[in-house]
Amino acid sequence: MRAEDVDMKLARMGDGAEIFHTLQGEGVSVGMPAVFVRLSLCNLHCVWCDTDHTWNFEGTPWAHEKDAQSGYKKHCKEDVIIEMGAAEIADQVRKYGCRHVVLTGGEPLLQEEDLLELITELRADGEDWFFEMETNGTRLPGVQLMAAVGQFNVSPKLANSGVAQNLRLKPEVIRGLVACGKAWFKFVVEKENDLAEVMEWVENSEIPLGRVILMPEGRNVAEIDKVAPWLAERCRDLKVRMSDRLHVRLWGDRRGV
Ligand code: SF4
Repeated sequence: MRAEDVDMKLARMGDGAEIFHTLQGEGVSVGMPAVFVRLSLCNLHCVWCDTDHTWNFEGTPWAHEKDAQSGYKKHCKEDVIIEMGAAEIADQVRKYGCRHVVLTGGEPLLQEEDLLELITELRADGEDWFFEMETNGTRLPGVQLMAAVGQFNVSPKLANSGVAQNLRLKPEVIRGLVACGKAWFKFVVEKENDLAEVMEWVENSEIPLGRVILMPEGRNVAEIDKVAPWLAERCRDLKVRMSDRLHVRLWGDRRGV
């Protein structure tokens, strides 16, 4: 298939796609300048999701924490999805002059074939492009994508996501990602109780502690700071990394930054 034949569903922002140049805000490469490409669609529906415009569409039954906020309503698909070919997306990414790209969502692996086309298109410029992929750990990438992506930022969801266990827990997928040697596993922690669940996950899925990252839940600095101090102590004692949410500290709960 030629790159121009591919139509990828991206998150829409204004008249264009949610493609932007910023600093990676979470995980093992926090602080790294990168171009983010946000894909639409997700196979989960986490109640605290901060990118609900990628899946909480009109006519779906999913609940979201923001349901309680006045003025919040589910999204009209036409308003939040834009379809673009790989060549067009690649042109937009190139204009930033930054060859570190974060493929995020939603769940990017729902559009795996299209992503391969995009990566191939960009690598036609040279082999020095580096791709990180954010994923919820419920789908194992195929051999080609596994080889093409340099780093997988895997964020398995806990019970605090409100998603049914059989949808969000896929130990065989996690084991496959561990085996590829390119994956880091980031868990969003809200309460002390979450830690027991994380450690059970880590043990059952055989994730090396050196690849585990715990991150406080929070869509604003006050929420993050409620969790961060005690989580820091627990990370130290458990011998795992902690990640802050740099983009939230710098720019708040805004899109496109
Ligand atoms: S898996 Fe990620 S994108 Fe999907 S609903 Fe959960 S937090 Fe949002």
